[in-house]
Amino acid sequence: MNLAHSIEEEALRLGFSACGFAKAELVSDGVVGVLDNWTAQGHHAGMGYMERNRHLRIDPTLLVPGCRTLIVVALNYYPKQLLPKEGYQIAYYAYGKDYHRVVKDKLYQLLIHIKSCIPGVEGRAFCDTAPLLERYWAVKAGLGTIGRNRQLIIPGMGSYFFLGVLAVTAEINDTKKEKSGSDICLDCNRCLKACPTGALTTDGIDCRRCLSYLTIEHRGDIPDDIAHKMGHRIYGCDACQQVCPHNKNAHSTEESAFNMPPEVAAMTPADWHSLTEERYKSLFKDSAIERAGYQGLRRNITAVNGE
Ligand code: SF4
Ligand code: SF4
Repeated sequence: MNLAHSIEEEALRLGFSACGFAKAELVSDGVVGVLDNWTAQGHHAGMGYMERNRHLRIDPTLLVPGCRTLIVVALNYYPKQLLPKEGYQIAYYAYGKDYHRVVKDKLYQLLIHIKSCIPGVEGRAFCDTAPLLERYWAVKAGLGTIGRNRQLIIPGMGSYFFLGVLAVTAEINDTKKEKSGSDICLDCNRCLKACPTGALTTDGIDCRRCLSYLTIEHRGDIPDDIAHKMGHRIYGCDACQQVCPHNKNAHSTEESAFNMPPEVAAMTPADWHSLTEERYKSLFKDSAIERAGYQGLRRNITAVNGE
């Protein structure tokens, strides 16, 4: 078995659904242009970090000196059991434990295996934790393509996946080829039509209108015209993924860390409204929901009710 196959097999054993290899090099000029244009138009909203460290974002060899290969993995987060439609909604990715740690722990286990195959190799794991264009590298590694909903679509699996990257100092070659976008995204525009706020267009996402940004990353009030379009979404939004034909037959995750705790799943809108900070801290310790903070979550709950 060659090295790439051995690493891929170990990645699958660790629970990842896909694994691929990309040469660590400068990001293509075309993609840098798109990124620069996106930030120049202010579509990154208050995420100032998207402008900072641009030089690292476009060159992973500066982020991890000596790195030669980016091993890209995908971990399924599609929930075993969805929250009832009539209740308050939380983005699927945030049902369980904070994914950053789960994905990185698995990547460091993968690194142990790689070190056993290549003595002296060094590596660093990332999962939304560094200026790295994970989706771009996933495409380069042959995992799938980016759809109009700006998600990585993996053929036959869909887009409900966390992406992680292990940057290693060894050169690892694989035979998987980069896939052509038109082979996967059907350009059906269902995602654009389903976006409740008009944040998603053929030009990309304007985070100033995106509920995933506004209910999680944003500090401050949610604009009234957006609040009226939140429906029951109190944390994040999955609308542009839920309608994508590629997610029609999404399989549930096997990762138990991503299961929603029963006491959270049982919460009624009244329970959410009466949630105290103390209860919030005990329920959402180590959860992705910590990202919005108690005040952020309260703001969202208030906004969905038009208060
Ligand atoms: S996450 Fe929701 S608000 Fe954001 S682009 Fe997708 S559908 Fe629109
Ligand atoms: S809903 Fe259609 S256009 Fe949007 S990402 Fe999926 S296949 Fe592409």
